[in-house]
Amino acid sequence: MKNKTKGIGLLSGGLDSLLAVKVLQEQDIDIIGVTFTTPFFGSEPGIRICPTTGITLHVTDIGEKHLKMLRNPVYGYGSQMNPCIDCHALMIREAGRLMESEGADFIFTGEVLGQRPMSQRRDSLRSVENLAGYPGRVLRPLSAKLLTPTIAEVQGLIDREKLLDIQGRSRKRQVALAGHYAIRDYPQPGGGCMLTNEGFAARLKELFRSYPEASLREVKAIKWGRYFRLPAGNVCLIGRNQSDNEKLELLATSDDLMARARDYPGPVGLLLSPSLVGEDLDLAARLVAAYSDAPSEAMVEVEWEHEGKSGIVVARRTARDDFRQYLV
Ligand code: SF4
Repeated sequence: MKNKTKGIGLLSGGLDSLLAVKVLQEQDIDIIGVTFTTPFFGSEPGIRICPTTGITLHVTDIGEKHLKMLRNPVYGYGSQMNPCIDCHALMIREAGRLMESEGADFIFTGEVLGQRPMSQRRDSLRSVENLAGYPGRVLRPLSAKLLTPTIAEVQGLIDREKLLDIQGRSRKRQVALAGHYAIRDYPQPGGGCMLTNEGFAARLKELFRSYPEASLREVKAIKWGRYFRLPAGNVCLIGRNQSDNEKLELLATSDDLMARARDYPGPVGLLLSPSLVGEDLDLAARLVAAYSDAPSEAMVEVEWEHEGKSGIVVARRTARDDFRQYLV
């Protein structure tokens, strides 16, 4: 007896991926979900909606692979540092590995033809499959009737007639479908990826310039704090609040130079893995003083630690605007 058809679905946590699951469940297809974690987007949305689908969800950390791809994406970046075609291809490749290990028949996503300018054009959808190494294996149930039939459809494992023909940016049909499936609580699309954020993209670009070999640790660090590029080439992060300070402290290793004002509340200052500290130590101390609660023009003792050594630099508390030229 033939086993039930099985599909691996990318569960982003948005309404579209949820609808794609529902549409296929109407055909009594076995579904396994997969969602991904990187420093730039997390798996929480996928995890949150999963219970409403009744499927098993794999959560996979692709941070290292994603960072490697991000340095040199085949299809380049979108409006910021978002390499959407390569990013989708990486996720499809990972889902493809799962398809093979689970003996599944196809991969699917909630993508809608024409909904996003870069990654959801007809040619982009094909590019993603080819780059991932799974041409013809990726079904988009919401737009399938407008696309070339996938191998699973041709083999009769999926009834193409029961798939949909949604396209474009309007959300009307998805909202109607959500009503049909009695889905009431769903997140609004977009906004979940830091690589599309202009400020973060600028910092990341700068980090790659300053540290071409930046690791996941450095990439995570620039999510917190103000980012200054100092004259000797070091990156100095200055915590903006208690939460930033705690995260920077947790992330710091003895390779980093950590600085704090001794007698005033204020930020953690972190020189990320400085190879040559030089004049940047004085500047980092002035930055820590400028963002501390010390009164204007006060002389602030700033303690520092680096590679097992420590010391104190006395810095005058000057205006924050004095450092604007270094702010990224
Ligand atoms: S927006 Fe971010 S998560 Fe989404 S495809 Fe583009 S790079 Fe990947």
